[in-house]
Amino acid sequence: MTVMDLANRTQEIQASRTLAMDAKAKALKAAGEDIISFSAGEPDFDTPEHIKMAAMGALEAGMTKYTASSGILELRQAICEKLATDNGITYTPEQITVSCGAKHACLNAILATINPGDEVIIPGPYWTSYPEMVRIAGGEPYIVPTTASTGYKLTPEQLSESVSPASKMLILNTPGNPTGAVYTEAELVQLVEVAIEEELYILSDEIYEKLIYGDAKHVSVAAFSPGVYERTITINGFSKPYAMTGWRLGYSAAPKHVANAIDRIQSHSTSNVTSFAQRGALAALKGPQNCIDEMRREYDKRRLRTLEIIRTIPKLSCVEPLGAFYLLVDISKTGLGSEDFAEQLLTKEKVAVVPGSAFGDDSLIRISYATSMENIERGLGRLANFCAALV
Ligand code: PMP
Ligand code: GLU
Repeated sequence: MTVMDLANRTQEIQASRTLAMDAKAKALKAAGEDIISFSAGEPDFDTPEHIKMAAMGALEAGMTKYTASSGILELRQAICEKLATDNGITYTPEQITVSCGAKHACLNAILATINPGDEVIIPGPYWTSYPEMVRIAGGEPYIVPTTASTGYKLTPEQLSESVSPASKMLILNTPGNPTGAVYTEAELVQLVEVAIEEELYILSDEIYEKLIYGDAKHVSVAAFSPGVYERTITINGFSKPYAMTGWRLGYSAAPKHVANAIDRIQSHSTSNVTSFAQRGALAALKGPQNCIDEMRREYDKRRLRTLEIIRTIPKLSCVEPLGAFYLLVDISKTGLGSEDFAEQLLTKEKVAVVPGSAFGDDSLIRISYATSMENIERGLGRLANFCAALV
């Protein structure tokens, strides 16, 4: 052993590829390059004013001390009200842990439930952080690939076939990143039936719940039955609905024994989320909600325009996404792998996308349409040029 040795777990963990691509695009832009970025999974809107004012007011009023590690009671109460009203799930404040983003809430939940050697079933294409979080906990991600033929949704048959004696958890993310897929209630009921029969925990990441389009409806699995509730950890947050990515505010809602374990873990890592930011979160939940729909309607216009343009580009195809703000584009007819495609597109046309390899599928690239209509028109024009120049 040398002084420089790192923990074994670091050998297996990759840095977040979505964040890396976003950082690269931002750096090139800062260096004066005319980059159009579809890489960021981040709202381009600013946080609504009343939320900022609440945090500033709290700061000015001296709210600068530690709070309860799991968050201030008023916020946890407001989260319970939200989950009851919007999602039909009953929780009490001690079941809620306010964490540093939904990302942290997911990691806490995995650390609280996964032992070394446990398998976690993750439908792919998946959000890039899930497998790494499982590895941090010493568990084994078990990826179940889905395709355009099922709209990138896991089927109950696939789930049944994937379960092994080591399976401990199923991760569900609807609306999904990077797929944009929104599971229907009927689909979820069937999946959850298998999960319960196999005694799996369900990590239900609902961070994009408010960003749904067309006839799509968001359904929370924890509301299905007491049996499902007892095995489900519901994750949500503020980054996506209220354009608060930089604030780092998310939460988990879990059965009491799981919530208690999550709280214990958090009390030894980050402790509470920034005190005055929690006041902003409270204002987000208690204040006017029309800001969400205004942003959602704008995303919807961009979604439709993106879809329309992509469908005119020979060699590319995609499934209509019904949620979040991502579109997966199938690039298999271009003959390029996703990393080469993304690299060449950035070099030649100054357009940043995330290669599907970051989500477990090399035949895809992800476009985030959380950017202006002007960027969409110009950037996708460049993408069309790029594809036309491929032989
Ligand atoms: N889950 C999914 C599926 C996401 O796309 C994101 C976005 N980064 C998160 C969780 C985490 O969100 P945040 O930590 O910003 O609340
Ligand atoms: N969720 C966003 C994305 O997928 C933000 C980056 C991240 O945290 O992964 O791009």
